[in-house]
Amino acid sequence: MATLAHDELIWVACPARVWRAARVLSTGDDVLSVEYEADDEVEEEGAEIPLHGKSAPKLLRRNAVLVGEGAMRYDNLTEVPELHEAAVLHALDARFRRAQIYTFTGPVLLAVNPFRSLPLYGPEQLRSFGRGGATSAAPHVYGIAARALEGIRARYESQTVLISGESGAGKTETTKFVMQFLALASKPGEDRSKRHGGLSPVERQVLGSNPLLEAFGNAQTLRNDNSSRFGKYIELQFAKPAALGDDVPNPRMTGARIHTYLLEKVRVIRQQEGERSFHIFYQAIAAAQSQDSEMELEGFRGFGLDSFKYLNKQESPNEVEDFEATLAAMDAVGLSKTEVTQIFRTLAAILHLGNVTFESAGESSHVVEKGPSSPLALAAQLLGVDAQRLPTALTRRVRQTPEGSITSTLTAPKAANGRDALARHLYHAVFNYIVQRSNTTIGFQPNLSFCGVLDIFGFEFFQWNSLEQLCINYTNELLQQYFNEFIFQNETSLYEAEGIRWDAEDFPDNTTILELLHGKMEGVLPMLEEECFHVGGSSEAWCNKLVRLHERNKHFAYDKLKKGTFIIRHFAGPVTYHCTEFLEKNKDELSPDLVQCLKGSEEPFVRGLFEHLDRVFGVGQSTSDTGRGRVLKAQRYSVSGEFRQQLKELLQQIQSTQPHFIRCIKPNPKNQAFRDREATKPFFDRPSVAEQLSYQGVLAAIKVARAGFPVRFWHSEFLRGGSQRAPETGRSGRRCPEGLLAWKVALSISII
Ligand code: ATP
Ligand code: MG
Repeated sequence: MATLAHDELIWVACPARVWRAARVLSTGDDVLSVEYEADDEVEEEGAEIPLHGKSAPKLLRRNAVLVGEGAMRYDNLTEVPELHEAAVLHALDARFRRAQIYTFTGPVLLAVNPFRSLPLYGPEQLRSFGRGGATSAAPHVYGIAARALEGIRARYESQTVLISGESGAGKTETTKFVMQFLALASKPGEDRSKRHGGLSPVERQVLGSNPLLEAFGNAQTLRNDNSSRFGKYIELQFAKPAALGDDVPNPRMTGARIHTYLLEKVRVIRQQEGERSFHIFYQAIAAAQSQDSEMELEGFRGFGLDSFKYLNKQESPNEVEDFEATLAAMDAVGLSKTEVTQIFRTLAAILHLGNVTFESAGESSHVVEKGPSSPLALAAQLLGVDAQRLPTALTRRVRQTPEGSITSTLTAPKAANGRDALARHLYHAVFNYIVQRSNTTIGFQPNLSFCGVLDIFGFEFFQWNSLEQLCINYTNELLQQYFNEFIFQNETSLYEAEGIRWDAEDFPDNTTILELLHGKMEGVLPMLEEECFHVGGSSEAWCNKLVRLHERNKHFAYDKLKKGTFIIRHFAGPVTYHCTEFLEKNKDELSPDLVQCLKGSEEPFVRGLFEHLDRVFGVGQSTSDTGRGRVLKAQRYSVSGEFRQQLKELLQQIQSTQPHFIRCIKPNPKNQAFRDREATKPFFDRPSVAEQLSYQGVLAAIKVARAGFPVRFWHSEFLRGGSQRAPETGRSGRRCPEGLLAWKVALSISII
């Protein structure tokens, strides 16, 4: 490192704060004497820093005042004269403490969750970001939504807003703000502030779908009280205006389509300590106990939280009000009273099923509780199935062979597994029904432009990682690849516009990790799917094959001492996967006897839930139209196979649009509110924010910019010697009116 001079400004690496801003007081051969700058959290203090040996911290030069008010100047972090983790982190921290939760880095919006309501989303802000008012360039979620709407208005080009972040980072809230903006700003010439109550039917349905999906798809977890347990992509459609161009008013929202991914249905049957099942169960139980609710709620009345084994006993306030809101949302998306009644009957049946217990007698089993008010009788009645047939379907299995049918008995644990599988499938089917019905009501026309909003689970790594985490992390790898390509193209177009050559050597690329995950034949996921269809296939055998095939792959590792595990070195970091249960989860079997039993229900609603469920034991059948009529086609089913297909379609859809990225950041792991005086730990926990910036690819994107010309001035500013940085020119962004001067020599003076 070059010699540091007296008074020089530097960053010093420090585990608790990641980087601290300091000023050099004096330099010696072995130690550096510095004065740390005070910020909101720490006092000014002097220190002696070793320059050699293991305890010598990393140092970086800095040439911008990023602490306190100094950080407020930088709405866009790429305007900071040095681009690296220290500067980004410091600026985000200082801005967050001043309630500036939004910041751009280039075209990407970073949104730090304040965990309390801030006056940022009223009619005034809607006006300032919409057409007809001053279109603000300040970093804001409405600004991103406004850019997307502008793309549709001016060019009638489809858009996607991709929102990412870890659990509790604020993805779903951000999604709602985007949708709110698109619904409220889509009509021209009106005072949007007056339109909150005056939404069109489509807008009302679209916004109504949010609380409905949250009631059925969200749950309280250790990391978020309202955690989405599914991924979601909503396409909001806009009518084609008579003409395109500057004078054309905002397009009108005319339809929408909701796609959902990987509902965590296992939550229906068990939840870990401190977590809950889906909100809707608790809402219905609270409503059934309340005098105020007029709904019949058959199967719930007379029962409390303590009555159901499937539910962790954790109440939460406002359950009855939330129930009323869910009912209103059901009404908004067009569900009839009969459908609503049927949905709640099915939910009650699921809970009563969970109370059914089995007793083994040798290799067979029987249901313990008997009588007309036993859990099984109640479940059978609510599902409209024969009370004699259901226990038989739960405790026996009939197999069709060329020689005829063979009936075998099931032990109590196997019967209990079948019961749980039925509960999971029933819930998933109800969830899908609600999504499909909402889609039918709202309507979606092919060939119209749309703005897609993606609210999908972020990268996950727990103590125990299973199929769910593999699918989630695979999704994140795919989206990361897409993000990398976008950043690359964005930079390339900037350099092209300036007529400058650049070397993109350091461009982050996760293609080889993806190859390991989904490569034909030998990829981790295709091999898992193949194993599911092997007679006698097992999770263990799959794991052993993976180790044999990939042990030399740089993205793969395994620990000989931890049998049954393997490690994938993801873009975001290494994750250890535990193989047990991978196969069972991926097959997601439901006994054909139970399917037949439910298909025989006297309730058309229940029959309908199982109509399309023909798959059994990993091999199913689907109908396809060949032009010569509908024929049955053998089809191999697995959760990951279906999910990969869904992801493929999702990416194709997104690739046909103009993307906008919002990276949500959780300021601390405890969900402490911004300026929460009771907080004992910092609200802005720098180590965890730095981790999120890294695995969301924000730091990698910054590296891309650094690999080329990290310091960019307007020509005029540069000649004046000023520090006003030039704005980004995104793919859809403004072109620089006077050209940029990307000055590589600056690298040597700004960054060590
Ligand atoms: P998950 O992946 O678990 O679904 P998420 O990223 O969707 O998490 P949200 O549910 O959107 O997270 O946010 C968690 C909580 O943070 C919200 O319930 C809300 O209390 C708060 N929150 C998020 N964004 C904002 C915001 N912009 N203003 C105020 N509070 C917010
Ligand atoms: Mg969410």
